[in-house]
Amino acid sequence: MRIAIAGAGIFGLSASCELAARGHTVTVHEDDFNLPGHRAASRDISKAIRHEYGNETAVYAPWVSRARELWIDLQREWGKPIFHQTGFLALSSGSFEPGQWEYDSFRVLSDLGHPVQSWDMQTAVSRFPGFKSDGLNFATYNPDAGWLDPMQALPALAARAENRGVVIKLRSRLESIAVHDADVVLLANGAWLDRFLTEIEWPIEVTRQHEAFFRPVNPVQFEKDPMPVWCVDIASRGFYGFGLHPSEGIVKAACHRPGPRADAEDDRGPDVKAQQAVASFVSERLAGLGEALAGRSCFYTNSPDKRFVFDAWPGKGGVFVAGCGSGHAFKFGPLLGEWAADLVEGKEIPGWFRMHADRRKA
Ligand SMILES: Cc1cc2nc3c(=O)[nH]c(=O)nc-3n(C[C@H](O)[C@H](O)[C@H](O)COP(=O)(O)OP(=O)(O)OC[C@H]3O[C@@H](n4cnc5c(N)ncnc54)[C@H](O)[C@@H]3O)c2cc1C
Repeated sequence: MRIAIAGAGIFGLSASCELAARGHTVTVHEDDFNLPGHRAASRDISKAIRHEYGNETAVYAPWVSRARELWIDLQREWGKPIFHQTGFLALSSGSFEPGQWEYDSFRVLSDLGHPVQSWDMQTAVSRFPGFKSDGLNFATYNPDAGWLDPMQALPALAARAENRGVVIKLRSRLESIAVHDADVVLLANGAWLDRFLTEIEWPIEVTRQHEAFFRPVNPVQFEKDPMPVWCVDIASRGFYGFGLHPSEGIVKAACHRPGPRADAEDDRGPDVKAQQAVASFVSERLAGLGEALAGRSCFYTNSPDKRFVFDAWPGKGGVFVAGCGSGHAFKFGPLLGEWAADLVEGKEIPGWFRMHADRRKA
């Protein structure tokens, strides 16, 4: 089939690689003049990859494990680091009991055989002394998790795509779902999906998410051991962050809770209120963070239940949707491509990615 893909973010590029590997003729249209696009949610200095998903861990963890293998394959092919296995530390002021995000994740991962550990705070701070333990009750640690470097991952995927014969057209905006030289159109255009999806009344909420950056006084403190990706009370307060970025020399922190509503075309400048909230929270938790730099905004494209969307455009043959990353899709990388290719080829995909009516009001 001749397939046109709108968007060269993580959904579009991964889909292009997989569809080309299956023998299709693929063209990726990217509106931006650069790859990764300047306003793409996929463009970033780091993205967490962790198996913990609270009461949905049993569903997501096997997908994360599969995606992790696929990332390691891509890294081998690319020859430069993409996946940084620093571990993931979840800190909590709650109780270690069923119904708590950290406990539920830990229980399922233990049952699945992941090498996760649960610690009291004394153990946690003796292992990672940068964290302040006051007000916290326990931590869980997952040594298999870490972070991905999108500025390596996306060029690696683009190179793989081009090696497989994909044509990537920059400054090429798909304006409509009618593409004259394609049998199939795959819409993977992130926060701009609503330009198409309002027609079928699929609810999408785009939110502004602020990323704060710090230049630590003593950088060594944020890179030793190595410092894990971390979060504090992720389900209720949403704060998370990373260790020292090896090439940028900065520490990134953010809040996972949906920010104010935005439009895909809005500027990506910092959100001053969110910057203050992240900076004050994080400096309470981590010693020696140092100077806060100007942050930036990146947009989540949320579906009502925060699950991704992979489905056919109802009533129109040959048009498909892959997106609604809802702030957590990057880690699935090449696996998103497998789901998209299965969708286009009419194969089975996980049912909960379909645009069921009951998902509209989750
Ligand atoms: C602050 C922040 C932190 C995040 N952290 C994590 C994390 O730690 N771990 C994780 O797994 N996920 C994370 N995510 C989520 C993840 O980054 C997104 O879910 C994912 O990158 C979305 O990818 P996408 O391909 O749908 O969209 P994008 O990356 O935005 O790509 C869409 C592309 O489509 C192009 N485009 C738009 N309209 C058109 C058109 N009509 N024709 C052609 N091209 C078009 C755009 O220019 C853009 O390049 C985070 C997201 C944000 C915002």
